[in-house]
Amino acid sequence: MLRQFVILTVFVLSVAVNLGLTLRDPSWLAVPAMLIGWYLADLLSGLIHMYMDYRPCTQGKRLNDIFFYEGSRESKEYLDMLRDRMATIGPFERISYDFKNHHPRPDALGRRALWRLIGSTVIVAALPLSIAGNVAGWLWPVPGWIFAGLVAFLIGGGFAQYFHGSLHRQDNPWFITAMRRTGLLMSPAAHQIHHDTLQRDFATNCGWSNPVINRLFNALRARGMLDESGLVPSA
Ligand SMILES: [Zn+2]
Ligand SMILES: [Zn+2]
Repeated sequence: MLRQFVILTVFVLSVAVNLGLTLRDPSWLAVPAMLIGWYLADLLSGLIHMYMDYRPCTQGKRLNDIFFYEGSRESKEYLDMLRDRMATIGPFERISYDFKNHHPRPDALGRRALWRLIGSTVIVAALPLSIAGNVAGWLWPVPGWIFAGLVAFLIGGGFAQYFHGSLHRQDNPWFITAMRRTGLLMSPAAHQIHHDTLQRDFATNCGWSNPVINRLFNALRARGMLDESGLVPSA
Protein backbone atom coordinates (compact mmCIF):
# COMPACT_ATOMS: atom_id res chain seq x y z
CA MET A 1 0.00 0.00 0.00
CA LEU A 2 2.76 2.45 0.96
CA ARG A 3 4.66 1.61 -2.23
CA GLN A 4 1.54 2.29 -4.32
CA PHE A 5 0.92 5.59 -2.55
CA VAL A 6 4.54 6.72 -3.02
CA ILE A 7 4.57 5.81 -6.73
CA LEU A 8 1.25 7.58 -7.41
CA THR A 9 2.37 10.66 -5.44
CA VAL A 10 5.66 10.87 -7.38
CA PHE A 11 3.71 10.51 -10.63
CA VAL A 12 1.26 13.31 -9.74
CA LEU A 13 4.13 15.59 -8.64
CA SER A 14 6.09 14.83 -11.81
CA VAL A 15 3.06 15.65 -14.01
CA ALA A 16 2.58 18.86 -11.98
CA VAL A 17 6.20 19.85 -12.75
CA ASN A 18 5.48 19.31 -16.47
CA LEU A 19 2.39 21.48 -16.11
CA GLY A 20 4.58 24.15 -14.47
CA LEU A 21 6.96 23.96 -17.47
CA THR A 22 3.92 24.65 -19.69
CA LEU A 23 3.00 27.77 -17.71
CA ARG A 24 6.62 28.99 -17.68
CA ASP A 25 6.38 29.57 -21.43
CA PRO A 26 2.71 30.18 -22.31
CA SER A 27 1.58 29.97 -25.93
CA TRP A 28 -1.69 29.49 -27.84
CA LEU A 29 -0.06 26.38 -29.33
CA ALA A 30 -0.69 24.68 -25.97
CA VAL A 31 -4.36 24.17 -26.93
CA PRO A 32 -3.82 22.18 -30.17
CA ALA A 33 -0.89 20.38 -28.51
CA MET A 34 -3.15 19.19 -25.68
CA LEU A 35 -5.80 18.00 -28.14
CA ILE A 36 -3.14 16.08 -30.08
CA GLY A 37 -1.75 14.60 -26.84
CA TRP A 38 -5.28 13.55 -25.81
CA TYR A 39 -5.85 11.99 -29.26
CA LEU A 40 -2.54 10.09 -29.18
CA ALA A 41 -3.33 8.65 -25.72
CA ASP A 42 -6.71 7.47 -27.06
CA LEU A 43 -5.02 5.94 -30.10
CA LEU A 44 -2.38 4.16 -28.04
CA SER A 45 -4.91 2.79 -25.55
CA GLY A 46 -7.07 1.54 -28.45
CA LEU A 47 -4.15 -0.17 -30.19
CA ILE A 48 -3.05 -1.89 -26.96
CA HIS A 49 -6.65 -2.96 -26.26
CA MET A 50 -6.99 -4.44 -29.78
CA TYR A 51 -3.69 -6.31 -29.46
CA MET A 52 -4.46 -7.63 -25.97
CA ASP A 53 -7.99 -8.77 -26.93
CA TYR A 54 -6.73 -10.94 -29.79
CA ARG A 55 -3.30 -11.98 -28.54
CA PRO A 56 -3.53 -15.73 -27.71
CA CYS A 57 -2.82 -16.50 -24.02
CA THR A 58 0.44 -18.36 -23.45
CA GLN A 59 -0.06 -22.12 -23.73
CA GLY A 60 0.07 -24.21 -20.55
CA LYS A 61 -0.98 -21.47 -18.12
CA ARG A 62 -4.50 -23.00 -17.88
CA LEU A 63 -6.19 -19.60 -17.66
CA ASN A 64 -9.23 -21.21 -19.28
CA ASP A 65 -10.02 -22.84 -15.90
CA ILE A 66 -10.70 -19.46 -14.27
CA PHE A 67 -12.09 -17.78 -17.40
CA PHE A 68 -14.81 -20.41 -17.90
CA TYR A 69 -15.35 -21.17 -14.19
CA GLU A 70 -19.07 -21.82 -13.70
CA GLY A 71 -19.48 -21.84 -9.92
CA SER A 72 -19.47 -18.85 -7.58
CA ARG A 73 -16.58 -16.47 -8.12
CA GLU A 74 -16.53 -15.87 -4.39
CA SER A 75 -16.04 -19.57 -3.59
CA LYS A 76 -12.79 -20.76 -2.02
CA GLU A 77 -12.22 -23.14 -4.93
CA TYR A 78 -12.30 -20.30 -7.46
CA LEU A 79 -10.27 -17.85 -5.38
CA ASP A 80 -7.58 -20.50 -4.75
CA MET A 81 -7.45 -21.29 -8.45
CA LEU A 82 -7.30 -17.58 -9.31
CA ARG A 83 -4.36 -16.99 -6.94
CA ASP A 84 -2.59 -20.09 -8.24
CA ARG A 85 -2.96 -19.17 -11.93
CA MET A 86 -2.13 -15.47 -11.45
CA ALA A 87 1.07 -16.42 -9.59
CA THR A 88 2.38 -18.20 -12.68
CA ILE A 89 1.97 -15.29 -15.12
CA GLY A 90 3.69 -11.91 -15.51
CA PRO A 91 2.07 -8.47 -15.68
CA PHE A 92 1.88 -8.54 -19.49
CA GLU A 93 -0.06 -11.82 -19.56
CA ARG A 94 -2.28 -10.54 -16.75
CA ILE A 95 -3.20 -7.35 -18.65
CA SER A 96 -4.03 -9.48 -21.68
CA TYR A 97 -6.18 -11.79 -19.53
CA ASP A 98 -7.94 -8.80 -17.91
CA PHE A 99 -8.95 -7.42 -21.31
CA LYS A 100 -10.44 -10.77 -22.41
CA ASN A 101 -12.07 -11.37 -19.02
CA HIS A 102 -13.77 -7.96 -19.09
CA HIS A 103 -15.82 -8.88 -22.19
CA PRO A 104 -18.15 -11.39 -20.48
CA ARG A 105 -17.78 -9.66 -17.07
CA PRO A 106 -17.51 -5.89 -17.69
CA ASP A 107 -18.74 -4.93 -14.22
CA ALA A 108 -15.68 -6.56 -12.65
CA LEU A 109 -13.53 -3.89 -14.31
CA GLY A 110 -15.77 -1.16 -12.89
CA ARG A 111 -15.24 -2.56 -9.37
CA ARG A 112 -11.43 -2.67 -9.55
CA ALA A 113 -9.39 -0.36 -7.32
CA LEU A 114 -7.51 2.52 -8.97
CA TRP A 115 -4.11 0.90 -8.46
CA ARG A 116 -5.15 -2.41 -10.06
CA LEU A 117 -6.36 -0.42 -13.09
CA ILE A 118 -3.41 1.91 -13.66
CA GLY A 119 -0.49 0.62 -11.55
CA SER A 120 1.41 -1.27 -14.23
CA THR A 121 0.83 1.45 -16.87
CA VAL A 122 2.20 4.10 -14.52
CA ILE A 123 5.26 2.06 -13.50
CA VAL A 124 6.20 0.80 -16.98
CA ALA A 125 5.35 3.83 -19.14
CA ALA A 126 3.74 6.99 -17.75
CA LEU A 127 6.07 7.66 -14.80
CA PRO A 128 9.35 7.14 -16.75
CA LEU A 129 8.03 9.35 -19.59
CA SER A 130 6.90 12.07 -17.17
CA ILE A 131 10.28 12.11 -15.40
CA ALA A 132 12.03 12.23 -18.80
CA GLY A 133 9.93 15.37 -19.48
CA ASN A 134 11.02 16.91 -16.15
CA VAL A 135 14.68 16.24 -16.95
CA ALA A 136 14.37 17.60 -20.51
CA GLY A 137 12.71 20.79 -19.19
CA TRP A 138 15.47 21.20 -16.64
CA LEU A 139 18.32 20.70 -19.15
CA TRP A 140 17.03 22.43 -22.28
CA PRO A 141 14.78 25.38 -23.24
CA VAL A 142 11.97 23.10 -24.54
CA PRO A 143 8.91 25.18 -25.67
CA GLY A 144 6.02 25.21 -23.18
CA TRP A 145 3.45 23.86 -25.65
CA ILE A 146 5.43 20.59 -25.91
CA PHE A 147 4.82 20.09 -22.18
CA ALA A 148 1.13 20.91 -22.63
CA GLY A 149 0.86 18.06 -25.14
CA LEU A 150 2.90 15.80 -22.87
CA VAL A 151 0.66 16.47 -19.84
CA ALA A 152 -2.49 15.63 -21.83
CA PHE A 153 -0.82 12.48 -23.17
CA LEU A 154 0.34 11.42 -19.67
CA ILE A 155 -3.11 11.88 -18.12
CA GLY A 156 -4.90 10.17 -21.02
CA GLY A 157 -2.40 7.32 -21.24
CA GLY A 158 -1.67 6.86 -17.53
CA PHE A 159 -5.33 6.82 -16.52
CA ALA A 160 -6.67 5.02 -19.64
CA GLN A 161 -7.84 1.92 -17.76
CA TYR A 162 -9.38 4.08 -15.04
CA PHE A 163 -11.41 5.88 -17.72
CA HIS A 164 -12.34 2.50 -19.23
CA GLY A 165 -13.40 1.25 -15.79
CA SER A 166 -15.60 4.34 -15.34
CA LEU A 167 -17.59 3.21 -18.42
CA HIS A 168 -18.53 0.07 -16.49
CA ARG A 169 -19.55 1.81 -13.27
CA GLN A 170 -22.67 3.74 -12.29
CA ASP A 171 -21.18 6.01 -9.63
CA ASN A 172 -18.44 8.26 -10.96
CA PRO A 173 -16.87 11.48 -9.70
CA TRP A 174 -18.15 14.79 -11.12
CA PHE A 175 -15.19 15.30 -13.45
CA ILE A 176 -15.99 12.11 -15.37
CA THR A 177 -19.52 13.41 -16.06
CA ALA A 178 -18.14 16.83 -17.02
CA MET A 179 -15.55 15.31 -19.39
CA ARG A 180 -18.24 13.17 -21.02
CA ARG A 181 -20.39 16.27 -21.61
CA THR A 182 -17.51 18.06 -23.33
CA GLY A 183 -16.62 15.00 -25.45
CA LEU A 184 -13.23 14.49 -23.79
CA LEU A 185 -14.46 11.07 -22.63
CA MET A 186 -16.78 8.72 -24.51
CA SER A 187 -20.21 7.60 -23.26
CA PRO A 188 -21.01 4.09 -21.97
CA ALA A 189 -23.43 3.72 -24.92
CA ALA A 190 -20.61 4.39 -27.39
CA HIS A 191 -18.36 1.84 -25.66
CA GLN A 192 -21.14 -0.75 -25.65
CA ILE A 193 -20.64 -1.05 -29.43
CA HIS A 194 -17.25 -2.63 -28.69
CA HIS A 195 -18.79 -5.15 -26.29
CA ASP A 196 -21.56 -6.04 -28.76
CA THR A 197 -19.15 -6.75 -31.62
CA LEU A 198 -15.59 -7.19 -30.20
CA GLN A 199 -14.57 -6.14 -33.69
CA ARG A 200 -14.58 -2.35 -33.51
CA ASP A 201 -14.18 0.75 -31.33
CA PHE A 202 -11.27 -0.47 -29.20
CA ALA A 203 -10.32 3.02 -27.97
CA THR A 204 -11.98 3.80 -24.62
CA ASN A 205 -10.89 7.35 -23.65
CA CYS A 206 -12.59 9.81 -26.01
CA GLY A 207 -12.90 7.43 -28.96
CA TRP A 208 -11.61 10.03 -31.45
CA SER A 209 -9.14 7.49 -32.85
CA ASN A 210 -11.69 4.71 -33.40
CA PRO A 211 -12.22 5.43 -37.14
CA VAL A 212 -8.48 4.93 -37.70
CA ILE A 213 -8.21 1.84 -35.47
CA ASN A 214 -11.30 0.29 -37.08
CA ARG A 215 -9.72 0.65 -40.51
CA LEU A 216 -6.50 -0.94 -39.24
CA PHE A 217 -8.47 -3.78 -37.62
CA ASN A 218 -10.30 -4.53 -40.87
CA ALA A 219 -7.04 -4.44 -42.85
CA LEU A 220 -5.36 -6.89 -40.43
CA ARG A 221 -8.38 -9.22 -40.47
CA ALA A 222 -8.40 -9.18 -44.27
CA ARG A 223 -4.82 -10.49 -44.07
CA GLY A 224 -5.89 -13.37 -41.82
CA MET A 225 -4.52 -11.85 -38.60
CA LEU A 226 -6.32 -11.30 -35.25
CA ASP A 227 -8.05 -14.69 -35.20
CA GLU A 228 -11.17 -14.92 -33.03
CA SER A 229 -9.69 -17.87 -31.09
CA GLY A 230 -7.42 -15.38 -29.31
CA LEU A 231 -10.40 -13.72 -27.61
CA VAL A 232 -10.62 -16.45 -24.96
CA PRO A 233 -7.85 -18.34 -23.12
CA SER A 234 -7.08 -21.91 -24.16
CA ALA A 235 -5.57 -24.69 -22.01
ZN1 LIG B 1 -12.08 -5.59 -25.93
ZN1 LIG C 1 -15.23 -2.32 -21.70
